[in-house]
Amino acid sequence: MAYDVELVLDAKARLGEGPIWDHVNNVLLWVNILENEVHIYDPATGRDRHLVLADMPGTIVPRACGGAVVALPDQFAALDLDTGALTKLAEVEADNPANRCNDGKCDPQGRLWTGTMPISEDSTSGTMYRLDPDHSIRPMFDDITISNGICWSTDQSTMYYIDTPTFKIDAFDFDPGTGSLSNRRTVVKVPEEYQWPDGMTIDLEGKLWVGHWGGWHCRRYDPETGECIGGVKMPCSNVTACAFGGPDFSTLYITTASERVEDIDEQPLAGGLFKADVGVAGSEQHAYAG
Ligand code: ZN
Repeated sequence: MAYDVELVLDAKARLGEGPIWDHVNNVLLWVNILENEVHIYDPATGRDRHLVLADMPGTIVPRACGGAVVALPDQFAALDLDTGALTKLAEVEADNPANRCNDGKCDPQGRLWTGTMPISEDSTSGTMYRLDPDHSIRPMFDDITISNGICWSTDQSTMYYIDTPTFKIDAFDFDPGTGSLSNRRTVVKVPEEYQWPDGMTIDLEGKLWVGHWGGWHCRRYDPETGECIGGVKMPCSNVTACAFGGPDFSTLYITTASERVEDIDEQPLAGGLFKADVGVAGSEQHAYAG
């Protein structure tokens, strides 16, 4: 069987997620949520180093003043990538152990957006939060089940968002100055045979790349037409998220999961980190500005 991707790391992660290129250090940051791990992959050496945290990191983003920020189940925390030391920045639903933070990214002004989800995945109790550079936090919208992919258009006018069980990619008008949202609408209706839309990134042509849990693909969508216009075929089913990286942002890195794979003997690479040359590049991802 031919695939479009190359295995980077046979990580066997239970839930590889949240890849993001750190362009200051030229490394890929990613998380293995269910094993409490933050990973730092350096393509120049081929070495992947990881830190084990005390709790699950739903996502990770670089921090402009150094290190990173992780979204733990009940808080945003600064993470020292050398020592693993955590410093709380703000609490998130700290009184609700039924919810945890999941996927999230920073907007072009360096505000960190992360949604929560019910760990049981059976209600719409999740909320999208915005962590501003002054460490203040505010809810932005709610009625979320599994908060996942989020990205911004390069002209900063649009935010794209996925709540997985809706099988939709929604868009909002985004006001860069105030960080406010308006005019929510659906731009892609994902066919159910593609399986669950998960993490998402955007390329320089404004097209959206989405990992599909259970779907054996990372797919490319045109938000103008709502059509799937390409993608890459993967050697394992649970494709979670993707990010453009490398010094010129021309490599698409893709995370996967071994969790909930029943025929693991038929998917020995499940949980691996992969890369693909997809003929289009991305751009610098935003660090947390606080
Ligand atoms: Zn996800």
